[in-house]
Amino acid sequence: MQNATHFVCRRTLLTGIVAAPTLAIAAAPTAARAENIDAAAARAKAELKDAKGTKLVLLGTGSGPIPSLPRRMASNLMVHNGAAYVLDCGIGVTNEYARTGIPFSALRSIFITHHHPDHNIEYGPLLIIGWVSGMRQSVRAYGPPPLAQMTEDYFRSAKATIGFWAEDFHMSPLRTIEVYEIPNSGPVMQDDTVNVTSILVQHPPVKPALGYRFDFPDRSIAFSGDTVALEAIAQMDQRGQRSGPRGDGFPRYGDIRTTTDCCCWSRRRNGGGRYGSHAR
Ligand SMILES: [Zn+2]
Repeated sequence: MQNATHFVCRRTLLTGIVAAPTLAIAAAPTAARAENIDAAAARAKAELKDAKGTKLVLLGTGSGPIPSLPRRMASNLMVHNGAAYVLDCGIGVTNEYARTGIPFSALRSIFITHHHPDHNIEYGPLLIIGWVSGMRQSVRAYGPPPLAQMTEDYFRSAKATIGFWAEDFHMSPLRTIEVYEIPNSGPVMQDDTVNVTSILVQHPPVKPALGYRFDFPDRSIAFSGDTVALEAIAQMDQRGQRSGPRGDGFPRYGDIRTTTDCCCWSRRRNGGGRYGSHAR
């Protein structure tokens, strides 16, 4: 399946997609887009208030190293019965999370698909802003190595500024959080709300790069991460089909939605018609 015509250069394929309010609006004039984004954010916030069951919010669907007001970089929020999970931390994740109205105290875990900056660059700032906004220090992070070292390095670099705010706001300083490095496909974590598994995907030269599947009690959500088209993605779906009650009704591979932002960016960057090495 890995050839030019089948390649899917998108950091996030979504299967089992939830009725998803999205904060990302594309393909409209800038002023109108800004207006639409505000409207979308307000709508998402309203829909999340007192929502029943699992909700997915696409906080950012932009891609690549281009700062873009209309489309934030990659980030997603999943919410189920008051528990919140973030997948990827591109620029904008903190503000867009706040705009959903979901309190930072609800944030339980952060997942990173891979270490391209448009997926992880706001990971540290999310923790710090989250901390002063009520995030529990029991929040955990999951992602490919070297996430533990990156977290440690970030906390070291931010130690002085964390200390200033701790003093200003009379708070306990933010300590480094628990980090779990995920080098391979397999079980990632399970709590009373969700069971998460990972899958290795192909996104050269980034190794390892992951996709994730989240099985909530009422529905499942799968993210491919950035990858070429991959049989393993279909298998991730099929595993759900075979493995039990949550497999019922889970969309088939053909239902996976894709976008091609990464392709477009790479083609522009290379003068058109050619893809960056990571997108071949
Ligand atoms: Zn990438």
